[in-house]
Amino acid sequence: MTMTATQPTERPGTTQGYRDPFPRYPIPPGETAMIEVAAAHSNGLTPIVGERTDRAGLVLTPHTTGRVLHYSGLWCLTHIASGARVSPPASLLHTREALLWLENAGVDWDRTAADLHADPAASSTFHELYFALTGARETGRPLVYARTSLVNWPPLWRICHRGIVSPDGYDTYEHAAALAEDAVAAPGGVLHPDAVIHRDEHSPGWGLRCASIGCTDRDSFFPDDWDYGLPIVDSRAAVQQAAWNAGWRGHDETHWTCPDCTRHYH
Ligand SMILES: [Zn+2]
Repeated sequence: MTMTATQPTERPGTTQGYRDPFPRYPIPPGETAMIEVAAAHSNGLTPIVGERTDRAGLVLTPHTTGRVLHYSGLWCLTHIASGARVSPPASLLHTREALLWLENAGVDWDRTAADLHADPAASSTFHELYFALTGARETGRPLVYARTSLVNWPPLWRICHRGIVSPDGYDTYEHAAALAEDAVAAPGGVLHPDAVIHRDEHSPGWGLRCASIGCTDRDSFFPDDWDYGLPIVDSRAAVQQAAWNAGWRGHDETHWTCPDCTRHYH
């Protein structure tokens, strides 16, 4: 085997390429969402790296501002063909929500700036997004919600034995049945084989979950730290009060965000 002293200009076709600490070849387009665009400012164009989006014609870019351009720490959507800013500067989470907001607007952004200017639907969408996102920032709430927060908990399953119903309720029949089976099999178990599983007729109350599209733990409900992190299920008022005390914030009747997400809405 011979070794070569020259650097390859194309990525080797083996997994070796992925481990190269000093690569000199571009990552194939299918493996990166980054593209360079020319962002427009009043005094000209500047190169900037943007992230491709599902909205053809638009990229997500860092927002730049100042007499000498610098990153502001905020983000925006940029029109690839013209470099014009399509959304007002906002947090990364708010800007990703702006993309979802545009999904429903039905405007084709993959056109020249002249075409977009001539399209009344595009210009009204531009203005509506500006006001909607500015309003969301001012009030510290999401622009788009992923789900409703308050969920009426389904009736629980319980183990019933000789007319005595277990004080503990279970979310699924299987969960209650497994515990009943264990209790029956356990030596000296308190349950007899004639234990039955039955279901409550009423909901035990409400659970609260985060409404943000950015929530990493989207299926988890506001937990009770005193009860092994199980969801708090209580009256609407009680669960909302407990969540507020823990740093959750309510935005309207049905939408709340957890502390981690809430700090991205500013
Ligand atoms: Zn969250």
